[in-house]
This record gives sequence, structure tokens and C-alpha cells, in this order.
Amino acid sequence: MTVYCLGSINADHVYSVPHLPAPGETLAATALSQGLGGKGANQSVAAARAGARVVHVGAVGADGAWAVEQLAAFGVETSHVARVGHPTGHAIINVAPDGENSIVILPGANARQDTGRIAAVLAEAGPDDTLLLQNETSHQSEAAALAAEHGLRVVYSAAPFEIGALSAVLPHVSLLVLNAVEAGQMGAALGPVEGPEIIVTDGARGARWRFGGQTLSVPAFPVMPVDTTGAGDCFIGSLVGALDRRLSRADALRYAAAAAALQVTRPGTADAMPARAEVEAFLA
Ligand code: ADP
Repeated sequence: MTVYCLGSINADHVYSVPHLPAPGETLAATALSQGLGGKGANQSVAAARAGARVVHVGAVGADGAWAVEQLAAFGVETSHVARVGHPTGHAIINVAPDGENSIVILPGANARQDTGRIAAVLAEAGPDDTLLLQNETSHQSEAAALAAEHGLRVVYSAAPFEIGALSAVLPHVSLLVLNAVEAGQMGAALGPVEGPEIIVTDGARGARWRFGGQTLSVPAFPVMPVDTTGAGDCFIGSLVGALDRRLSRADALRYAAAAAALQVTRPGTADAMPARAEVEAFLA
């Protein structure tokens, strides 16, 4: 009944720019917004907002106390976020007027996870629990293997797509979640993948869940998006939160699509994750 999320914690710096900078170009931004980000932190917040007990497993530097405080303020348990001697991860995000973006990430502390720390956390976990992973930290495959040994459900968001990480984690995964681009990259690299259940999200076209020879589909809810950043993170965190409450696959898929539809109607990422009551009102 606990969701353990081994995931990145980043300081996001989002610059509004007149166009994406060309090689060699120096460009003045017209606005800056800063805040908590990282796929891991975003997914933890979404799962907590969906009503799950979420224990975030991660690392920040000496400069990261504010990020841990924000995670905690969103209802995420942070006692397993380590302080390490490397800077907190950060992302430089340029956003052009048409919404196109380019992103540079410094992994920093996110790349300094530790097998001993992960093992100590998972020692308290069992078959009612879930491990949620993405590709923005180190040690995903070790964590996935340990979690599978303890009988946890292992849910893996293979983003950003990286074939080496995917191949190492895949044998331990119960549920793999990809967006349509990542699903294409996986298909090109590995051909058809057997084993885990697979969800492919496809933006405004909705999502589908393949398991045991069956496929469940959910359309996207029709909304007017204002900022689709973090839609996938909202979908995954909300889905895991719903599954943690023992919702059926069909109900969890619908819940996640509704949560993500609400999230894209608001600016921001972690700040925009909807609470369970809002999602249930939207679905009613
Ligand atoms: P990612 O952010 O990883 O690229 P997607 O774009 O596939 O992920 O979005 C994840 C989910 O969020 C979709 O399956 C859908 O349910 C929801 N979603 C995304 N964009 C929209 C939209 N414009 N309108 C409604 N729902 C959306």
C-alpha cells in the first residue's frame, strides 16, 4: 500500500525565448520561472495527489533543501532523500512562443544513488507495494531487481528513452509505460517486447494498455490544453496511485487520463497535478 518512487529531483529553470537558440547564438529570454521538477518528483507528487502513500527515494545536494521541503509540502515522504556531495540536479528549459522546447539537464545528485540506501528502504516493502522508476537516476536496474525479489509491483516509465537502461530494467518490470515516441524507439531497437504489461500514451489520442493478449484503450478527455509539460508524469503517477487503491485496470486508466486532462489545462508541472477529489468530480 506504499508507492516507493526512485526518481529525480530537479530545479527547473524555464526560460521564455523568442525562438530556440541556434548554434553559436546568444539570446535574451523574456521571462524566467523556477521551481521543483524532474520526472521522479513530478510522478511522486501525482501519486500522492491521487491519494497514495508515497516514499520518494532520491538524492539532492547541499543546495537542495528547498526541493525536499516542496516535495514534503505536496504530501510526499522524504526521509529517504539523501544529501550527497554533488549539486542538486537541474534542468535548463527553453520554451519558444509556439510551445516548442529544448532542454539541458545536469543529473548531479540524481546520478548518485546508492544500492545500500535503496536496499535499506526496500527491506521494509512487500508485495502490496509498488516501486516506480524512470530514467533520470542511476541504479534503476539494481532497485528493480531488489523490488522484484521482494515481490513488489515494478512500474517503469522508460523516459527519457535510453536503450541501455531499458534493457537492464526490463527483466524486472511488471508494467512498462511509454509515450508513443518512446514506444516507436523501443520497437525499432528491440522489436516486439514480451513479458511486462505495456501502456502506451499518445497525447490527445489517449492511451492503451496491453496485457495477456488483451488491449484496453482510453480516449483522451477533450480539454483546452494550456501547458502539456508533465502530462506523461501526471498520467503515470496518477495511474500508480489508482492501482495502489486497487482500482481495476480499466478504472485506473480512466482515472489517469482524467488526471492528465486536468493537468494540461493548468500551467506548471508538479503544481498542476490534480487532487483525487478534483479528478473524481471531473469523472462524475
Ligand atoms: P508525454 O507527456 O510523456 O509525452 P503524452 O503526451 O502521451 O505523454 O500524454 C500522456 C497522457 O496525458 C495522454 O495519454 C492523455 O491521457 C493525456 N493528455 C496529453 N495531452 C492531452 C490533451 N491535449 N488533452 C487531453 N489529454 C491529454
